[in-house]
Amino acid sequence: MNFTILTLFPEMVNAGLHESIIGRAIENQTISVNAVNIRDFSEDKHKRVDDYTYGGGAGMLMQAEPVYRAIQSVRTEQKKCRVIYVTPQGLPFHQRMAQDFAKEEELIFLCGHYEGIDERVLEECVTDYVSIGDYVLTGGELAAMVMIDAIARLVPGVLHNEISAETESFQGDLLEYPQYSRPRVWHDREVPQVLLSGNTRDIRAWRLEQSMKRTKSRRPDLYEKYEKLQEISKKLSRKKIYHMDMIEGISRGYLSLVEEDESGCVLISSDERYYYHACYEPQTETFIVPKTLDKNAIFVEHSTYCAFGEDCKEYLIGALTRREKLPIRGLYCEDGKKGSAGISIVPYEKAHEALIAKWGLNPGDMTLAFVACYQDIPSAVIALQRDGSIGQLYVEPSLRRKHIAMALVTYLCNKMLENGQVPFVYLPKEQSDMQELYKKTGFYVSADSICMIQPQEGL
Ligand code: SAM
Repeated sequence: MNFTILTLFPEMVNAGLHESIIGRAIENQTISVNAVNIRDFSEDKHKRVDDYTYGGGAGMLMQAEPVYRAIQSVRTEQKKCRVIYVTPQGLPFHQRMAQDFAKEEELIFLCGHYEGIDERVLEECVTDYVSIGDYVLTGGELAAMVMIDAIARLVPGVLHNEISAETESFQGDLLEYPQYSRPRVWHDREVPQVLLSGNTRDIRAWRLEQSMKRTKSRRPDLYEKYEKLQEISKKLSRKKIYHMDMIEGISRGYLSLVEEDESGCVLISSDERYYYHACYEPQTETFIVPKTLDKNAIFVEHSTYCAFGEDCKEYLIGALTRREKLPIRGLYCEDGKKGSAGISIVPYEKAHEALIAKWGLNPGDMTLAFVACYQDIPSAVIALQRDGSIGQLYVEPSLRRKHIAMALVTYLCNKMLENGQVPFVYLPKEQSDMQELYKKTGFYVSADSICMIQPQEGL
């Protein structure tokens, strides 16, 4: 992912972003950060970029032309990417916004100074107005750095343990639990006993309880949202496998509530691309149509009654509800070395990009991916997708029936189970071989199908 920052103080940005985790990600080329000096685009012989404001008022304003030229220099016709103006007048920046931006290949940040920037160039070029809080800074550089830091750490490969990005504060509606490191006793304060027990189930339960307590006292607004979604999750659990995508989406903080009534609910994904509808009673034919339905959104319809007619893709839902890890059955070695079946599994990295493109898969939807090598040659891939489902399972056609798919499913499921997630998958209704593979691995498969529909004018 490439970040470009248009600024009057490139050294400030470079100094701040070339350290620590983000600095390492730049060094190993997982991301790039390019600070461009707007002053280089001034036609004034003294390189001035500011002038008085029409109509009077205190302070100077950055002029339109140098800003325009700076934007044009990095944003070509072929590369029409989002241009974010950091401004106290923008939408407040938050974790969901960071997730949305993290899906882009290129982002341009425009930093103002003095009284800000001539409105006309903003109108012509800016796609997003974002603020980091209700206070006024002297310039946009710190705001851009805050946002780039939050976005970059969500880019696959920037953090070593990528699942950690999913369990932190704000990923759901809960704040993170308290954490401790050595020594066990400090200033007579002991580390809570449960954390020393080695019992992962107890530790997870304790952490959830702490997260809830903390959120309730520090952020009652978030806690209220959390409680409402927990109630919905309970109702959906009456038909658990069929609703596993929604239940997991709530638990991972990927889904939030749009509307609910006695017949059912509509949830929306954090990237606002998917609406999920469920009926609380299986026979209900009433249908909630969200007031704010975007016509490009996809509707994930969980009811045997489908409001959009025949033209939709049907899937069964497969879910692995056991908590114990799956047996590896000699399919691969845990340490990434080749097992007796000739299969080794390694994390997906930049070097696999061309292969993924050749196989027609979409790396943008992957949050965590693994590649299986057969006799040391990369031959297959599997991914945990943004919506929490397992997907993009692909095995080179000439190497099918060698248990490579089973090895990858087992490997990814075990990673998810280690992190307290419930593995689930959308299984195309007509692909019985796929359903068999997951059943063999231990998945339950729903009896009813869900539909994925793009409503367009259908509503
Ligand atoms: N006159 C402007 C106003 O009232 O909206 C404020 C200008 S401020 C002094 C200078 C620059 O700092 C802005 O153009 C913007 O890029 C940046 N900035 C200030 N506060 C910010 C915030 N809370 N979030 C993002 N950027 C901010």
